[in-house]
Amino acid sequence: MRREALNFIACPNCSNGLALCGEVREEKEHIMAGKLACAACQALFSICDGVPVLLPANLETVKLETASRFAEEWTRWKDLRGYYEEEFFAWVAPVTGEDFRGKTVFEGGCGKGRHTAIVASHGARAIVSLDLGESAFIAFAHTRDLPNAHVIIGDLLHPPVRPAFDLAFSVGVLHHLPDPAAGFASLASRVRNGGRVFFWVYGYEGNEWITRYINPIRKAVTSKLPAGLLRVLCLAPSVFLWAVIKLFYRPRADGQGPQYLPYGDYFAAMHSYPFDEIHANVFDQLVTPVAFYLKEEEVRPWLSTGLQDILLRSHRGYSWTGLATVNRH
Ligand SMILES: [Zn+2]
Repeated sequence: MRREALNFIACPNCSNGLALCGEVREEKEHIMAGKLACAACQALFSICDGVPVLLPANLETVKLETASRFAEEWTRWKDLRGYYEEEFFAWVAPVTGEDFRGKTVFEGGCGKGRHTAIVASHGARAIVSLDLGESAFIAFAHTRDLPNAHVIIGDLLHPPVRPAFDLAFSVGVLHHLPDPAAGFASLASRVRNGGRVFFWVYGYEGNEWITRYINPIRKAVTSKLPAGLLRVLCLAPSVFLWAVIKLFYRPRADGQGPQYLPYGDYFAAMHSYPFDEIHANVFDQLVTPVAFYLKEEEVRPWLSTGLQDILLRSHRGYSWTGLATVNRH
């Protein structure tokens, strides 16, 4: 955690600012260990391995592990940066890299920090990225050399940041929350008046076969399996999917996929992915206990109260991208 993060973080219980207290251990520009105190409600939070853990009192369950063992994964991740960036800007269009320049940005759900690094590299003044679990330590390892990136552990439904961001976004995360609508409202609540908020979520439309055939298996079986076993079980379907993509989804010169096949553009974008990336995608689909596939009529009401300049578009027929400007007057 950099000291600048104190300008953005807040107590998850009462939204008051936080102050460093007691002994701190520093490593270059980061505070690796220490305590953060809320003067209003007396709550005390820890900085663990460089990441502040800002969970509400009833949620102190996150497993804390050091980030060093992820070094190997980081190398692979760096190789894929180009694809991730293309994919990200396809999901969030019409938002472009220019929209982040000079802005303060809040990211609700950063996973391993893929998008955090992209936004930071496009000149955001600061990006504060939140995740609930230990993936935040990986995100920290991925972004610790970026002076404008800040990673925190927190709950998006009790966001431990001040409500003053120019931009807030959540890509691929809201549909994994028990209440996606509440997650979006919470995200938007951290944006200043006149700032913008955007999201990308799975659509129900175009994914009926997943909701019909894959979801029951995921809920009843795969989300309950030990991760190591599930990784092994995912190998066979991943090989199949990888072969199908290699054989039938070569992108055309304009980057588009075969329009006569399902997920044409989506799979074409994965055509040059290495096998382990396909495997990771299959695993992600099956490991999660909560995944909503959202209908347009479920998502559209999110973009109402206190928002204007609303845009909701279907992205490639299987997902929803929403964008709006915050106006609370
Ligand atoms: Zn407090």
